[in-house]
Amino acid sequence: MPKISIDLQKGQIHKEEEQKDLIVGIDLGTTNSLVAYVKDGEPVAIQDEEGKSALLPSVLHFAADGSIITGEEALKKMVEDPEHTIYSVKRLLGKSYQDIREHQVYFGYRIIESEDENQLVKIQVYDRFYTPIELSAEILKALKRRAEQQMGQEISKAVITVPAYFNDAQRQATRDAGKLAGLDVLRIVNEPTAASLAYGLGLNPEDEQYIAVYDLGGGTFDISVLHLHQGIFEVLSTHGDTFLGGDDFDRALVHYWMETYGWAEADLEASAGLGQALRLAAEEAKKALSTEEYYSSRLQGREVEISRQKFEELIAPLVQRTIDSCRQALKDAGKEVAEIDRVILVGGSTRVPLVRRQVEAFFEQRPFDRIHPDEVVALGAAVQADILAGNRKGILLLDVTPLSLGIETLGGLMDVILPRNSRIPTRVGRQYTTSIDGQANLRISVYQGERDLVKDNRKLGEFVLRGIPPMPAGIPKIEIHFILNADGILTVKAKELRSGVEQQIDVKPSYGLSEEEMARMLLESIQHAREDRDARALLEARVEGGNLLQAADKFLQQHRSLLSEEELRQTNSLIEALAGAVKGEDKDAILQAIDELNEYTRPFAERAMDKTIAEAMKGKKV
Ligand code: AMP
Repeated sequence: MPKISIDLQKGQIHKEEEQKDLIVGIDLGTTNSLVAYVKDGEPVAIQDEEGKSALLPSVLHFAADGSIITGEEALKKMVEDPEHTIYSVKRLLGKSYQDIREHQVYFGYRIIESEDENQLVKIQVYDRFYTPIELSAEILKALKRRAEQQMGQEISKAVITVPAYFNDAQRQATRDAGKLAGLDVLRIVNEPTAASLAYGLGLNPEDEQYIAVYDLGGGTFDISVLHLHQGIFEVLSTHGDTFLGGDDFDRALVHYWMETYGWAEADLEASAGLGQALRLAAEEAKKALSTEEYYSSRLQGREVEISRQKFEELIAPLVQRTIDSCRQALKDAGKEVAEIDRVILVGGSTRVPLVRRQVEAFFEQRPFDRIHPDEVVALGAAVQADILAGNRKGILLLDVTPLSLGIETLGGLMDVILPRNSRIPTRVGRQYTTSIDGQANLRISVYQGERDLVKDNRKLGEFVLRGIPPMPAGIPKIEIHFILNADGILTVKAKELRSGVEQQIDVKPSYGLSEEEMARMLLESIQHAREDRDARALLEARVEGGNLLQAADKFLQQHRSLLSEEELRQTNSLIEALAGAVKGEDKDAILQAIDELNEYTRPFAERAMDKTIAEAMKGKKV
């Protein structure tokens, strides 16, 4: 609550804001993760303890005693102890074993096999089993610790970014990981949206433009075409390859060296050290070639070398694949190259000169690259956090649903209730009826996707509306509401209007955790549910509003004469608005009404103060 203090010497009234909660922005990446915040109006990425880098490798290592290390230290264990070193967890978030089975060889650690499509992936380390949510939570905890250490204050709120193509299950899993790490995840933001925000795009409500965000990281590539208008970032299309990135550049170079210097696969297998040394040298060479024309080094007693030109030849087909994706993304978005106003580069691998040249040639413009490509997403998340903290007045950022949401109707058809790209948060209702006389139950199955038949879409959940009183087919009026909150998480309500029978579910994506699992994990990690906090915030706002109403009432009784007719009318109308808001459920509406009344009446308080002081002075003179 704001504190009011009066400076009697100057006769001024100050309203002091209590220190605001700091909300951080987090880029939870496949290869690296970062945390950032807004300092004096500018987003900054928080560096590691030595101040060397803001990147925290998204790697975990488990010791036999169960202790966990993350980041650089864990990365070193990749060679010594690969079986207990976990990387690329982001690829497993919200996925079932069936989803990732064909890529299983990619993961050097143990993933539990399961035939059950609804069974979330589990990872075995020693004799313990972990979900990707728990593992991601460890990375988030490390970032939280880093932020807390450097800023000397507790951090409990965050904005986390996800790729634009993440579905509901993956978004929910990201949010759950945040909760487990003790973070209240205020918003899940699309990575390309965050990158745009970092460049200040969208901060002016007048902006209207088409933006292409080209993101090439260590292991993944994606291109998103966004339409920005009236503060809304609409994802028109995304395309990409979840197994294409800078690591493939390294591999291409390793193969070239093996051929050139006569190392065979068998040599690598015989000596794990050689394979690793080659890979590390290749990455070092690649990075050097981003600024130099030539690289050489000694490896196992042998000189290895590569020129930039040769390297570019090796990776050209890979880069070409990303450009093909760009062409496809534009086509899907229904846009021509000339219609794209800005191109933004994201991801460490966009430092490769060939990548930049090709992107520039394809889009026929110089891409935005002023901000570090590996920090830009986290910085944008910090900007979004700053907006949510209320530090940038007048900016409201909305997002849109990436995929349509609907229910199954007769014949297995998808009936779309919320089309893709609907603004969120949102609420939509539609009426249905029964198809059989005397039908007492109605099964409501919720799907996500763009296809006409539900079998081609993704099932999110289902429930049964029971106890419909017997009526002829077509007579019951069943209203179904879809309520989508700002994170893209859906609640579905069904109500039979004639009888009032109703039922609702929060659609947990079918790959989500079971209630029991979640309850156990939550109990262990957080004490207060978010609902509690929300209820408390509402209560606090009401109390503050009530206090202000009383104070205003008292003020008017004493100082009515200081106000003009018009001022009195306006004050009364603001009082009425606040009184109305206090009775409602909307915390933000109450806070706004408080601000408005405070703001409007501040000069009157000053007048009253002057009068009081003047009278006091008079008294003294007498
Ligand atoms: P990210 O996933 O965005 O953190 O990107 C990581 C990838 O960027 C890895 O493949 C790195 O090898 C690559 N990378 C980082 N710095 C450079 C550089 N200077 N030149 C080329 N690639 C780089």
